[in-house]
Amino acid sequence: MEYKKLPMRQRKRIALIAHDNKKKELLEWAYFNRELLAQHELFATGNTGALLEKELGLNIVKLKSGPLGGDQQIGSKIAEGEIDFLIFLWDPLEPQPHDPDVKALLRIAIVWNTPVACNKASADFMISSSLMTGEYLRLIPDY
Ligand code: PGA
Repeated sequence: MEYKKLPMRQRKRIALIAHDNKKKELLEWAYFNRELLAQHELFATGNTGALLEKELGLNIVKLKSGPLGGDQQIGSKIAEGEIDFLIFLWDPLEPQPHDPDVKALLRIAIVWNTPVACNKASADFMISSSLMTGEYLRLIPDY
């Protein structure tokens, strides 16, 4: 397979999503990392975004609520090359009405070689990476 390089700029476009049982965890994580997050462009599904905006006092591009298509909108943005980085605290202990969308989002994120954190520890490692503060060339499939 051929690959091409998609540049990620210093200011990353970060998508944040948390299922209901994970929203508190994401809010605490985001508050702790507020100064870092403030340097980037933030996107979120509807309810996650509204809570984050209130907690952080930062502008967030809010899409539809996850069950109403928000996960698919984030997936679409990934496929358009408009998202660099995904924090997705999905709930492994409870089925969701939009489970197929969750699977589709995770799949498309991997296809596009997008850094994805699905739990707090991964999010901690990703956000503290030295790659966050510079440019990065992401290899993506080209066919
Ligand atoms: P929400 O959606 O942020 O609108 O709650 C998240 C999800 O369930 O995917």
